Amino acid sequence: MQFSQVVGLKDVKKHLIQMVSEKRIPHAQLFLSQAGAGGLPIALAFAQYLVCEQKSDTDSCGKCSSCIKSQKLIHPDIHMTYPVIKKDSRPPISADYIKEWRTQIMSNPYTTEYEWLQSISKDIKMGNITREEASQIINTLYLKSFEGGYKIQIVWMAENLGEVGNTLLKIFEEPPEKTIIILIAENLEAILPTVVSRTQIVKINALSDEDITENLISQFQASHELAQEYAYIANGNYRKAQQLIENELESFGEDLKEWMIFCMRGPSSDLLKWTENKHDKSREYLKKFFEYTINIFRESLASKYTDNVLAPHVSKSEIPVVQALKKYISHDNLYHLIPLIEDTAYHIERNANAKIALLNLSIQMRQILK
Ligand SMILES: [Zn+2]
Repeated sequence: MQFSQVVGLKDVKKHLIQMVSEKRIPHAQLFLSQAGAGGLPIALAFAQYLVCEQKSDTDSCGKCSSCIKSQKLIHPDIHMTYPVIKKDSRPPISADYIKEWRTQIMSNPYTTEYEWLQSISKDIKMGNITREEASQIINTLYLKSFEGGYKIQIVWMAENLGEVGNTLLKIFEEPPEKTIIILIAENLEAILPTVVSRTQIVKINALSDEDITENLISQFQASHELAQEYAYIANGNYRKAQQLIENELESFGEDLKEWMIFCMRGPSSDLLKWTENKHDKSREYLKKFFEYTINIFRESLASKYTDNVLAPHVSKSEIPVVQALKKYISHDNLYHLIPLIEDTAYHIERNANAKIALLNLSIQMRQILK
């Protein structure tokens, strides 16, 4: 991640960059972040900045091989520790979940601890950073760096260290050469005072409404008015703001219901009006709507085989849509429907006339569904 991809935190970025340029980087730091303010994203951007081969005085280059490895979370000198859940008789370590971690964090570095744990376990248990993980940290940091530069250890949600923190005191105090340790936490009281006293605290305050607004507009193509409203509700928590926008997706349910009704009735003024109305939406909106439609079709098919048990990935408001579609969707027609929708999405994204493409799609969908 580059600093430019981190929402807000202008002063923190400046402070971190200055430390690097003045070559006075504390070897153990505690990024104390408000929830959703970006503790992990800023730590990832800082780590990438440290290893970047062509950094400027404002950001990492984003292009050198170190940057590329950092962005993919595969840089051999950037080590990550995060809470994990026991999956067999052995105490778990972060490496057991490295694949899941990369997928989750690359898709959203603002992921909450709850969302992370939910992504690795169906029934949420308490996450944990084990004594075995602490030994792993010590062993790794005493090895030579792979690429000859800094070795960086990030500990996300360091609250999970608990008493295990005691076993790391020595390494916090006197880490091996060119080693930087970054703990990220939201709750200072949950960390041993002996750990806190050995780190330099970097405060990451709640984000400003302006920063959140700006990012909702650029990331989600939200209207200025909506972005401002959500930023206000989110109260400095960017993840919360993202969730508000994502819930917008629920309104797709209504759209889809309407579409299906008009589709099944065949060409009519209602269908025409519907396509005209969609034609005015952004391409990004349509792209998301198509993704949403495919997902709901799949869930409808899945729900056919699960009796009355709900299909796993739909919200309450979508249940009626899934149920209504159930009688039309089959293995066979889905096989034709999905490529058809994907094709339309592809062409609209590349500037095809959305109105004609949607009308075309609607007519073909009706033939397949009937
Ligand atoms: Zn670089």
